[in-house]
Amino acid sequence: MISSEFDIIRRYFSQQQSFRADVNLGIGDDAALLQPPADQMLVVTTDTLVSGVHFPENTDAVSVGYKVLAVSLSDLAAMGAEPAWMTLAITLPQSDENWLTDFARGLFSLAQEHNIQLVGGDTTRGPLSITVQAMGFVPQQQALMRSGAKAGDGIYVTGTLGDAGAGLKLIKKELSAEEAVVHELHDRLNRPTPRVAAGLALRELASAVIDISDGLSSDLGHILEASHVGADIMIEALPLSNAFRSLKLENAWQLAVSAGDDYELCFTVPAEREQSVQQQLDTKGIQWTRIGVITSQPGLRWHDKAGNELSLTNSGYDHFSQSRGSQ
Ligand code: ADP
Ligand code: MG
Repeated sequence: MISSEFDIIRRYFSQQQSFRADVNLGIGDDAALLQPPADQMLVVTTDTLVSGVHFPENTDAVSVGYKVLAVSLSDLAAMGAEPAWMTLAITLPQSDENWLTDFARGLFSLAQEHNIQLVGGDTTRGPLSITVQAMGFVPQQQALMRSGAKAGDGIYVTGTLGDAGAGLKLIKKELSAEEAVVHELHDRLNRPTPRVAAGLALRELASAVIDISDGLSSDLGHILEASHVGADIMIEALPLSNAFRSLKLENAWQLAVSAGDDYELCFTVPAEREQSVQQQLDTKGIQWTRIGVITSQPGLRWHDKAGNELSLTNSGYDHFSQSRGSQ
């Protein structure tokens, strides 16, 4: 491995990539030299994926390469940042050519889509673990944070919820479904779409934004905590994909609000800017759904359309699943 470390870097990581004018010096020296725009903030985020922890051990390498960048891009999206650069620290059990080729294919396909350049990294031997640091830019004062939600703001999400969680259950054989559904939900788990365009569109419009990595309940909870507010959510408004609905789960809503890995954005918008948001997102073809409203009363409350309040209990979402029945 040591003797082939430089080989791996040259063969798999130095070659195929987008070349940006703001990279003065990329891979190959002791460090990279980068030129951020003078009038913008540098936005930096890091995520690690450990085999067997963050993805099942048998996940195909194309998906691993794709996902490790997707989760970092999702963080940039949630800040309203435009992606620019990344570094890659990769620990490999062995130098497996097929695995590396596929990994690089997954990584660079998404990198090219977002014009993000790999500018450095580290390559070591050990249990499979991959860290990506992604960097991007946002104009001064335009970064989207968790702390700006105010009572009366609408609460929205992009895309659909629960697909990745259902995909994981299918992989673990806790669920079964027809092949097309399995395929679609696996894809949502392995190749989440980072909502970069939505993040950019929400600059100067959204009052708070977070990406849903741990489940709506938990991540919206972070907005509420940071903003010192509460929320009323209409559970029937939560967007579910046809593939997810076709599973006919008894605890569909519970899974949709608690399962992680969807990498959709959850955001809040003051009433007077809702139309602008609608226009922006519709123009860009981004699916979005209004799911509730921010309140001054703290806490996260779930309502069904009959007006019943369904509370989350310490023992989980029992209350919830009992009242909802199958969906
Ligand atoms: P040093 O020993 O000076 O830290 P390395 O031998 O670790 O340098 O790396 C040599 C060059 O290759 C550096 O520019 C480094 O950023 C880059 N590099 C190493 N591993 C990776 C990787 N997995 N992806 C991208 N660049 C890498
Ligand atoms: Mg080094």
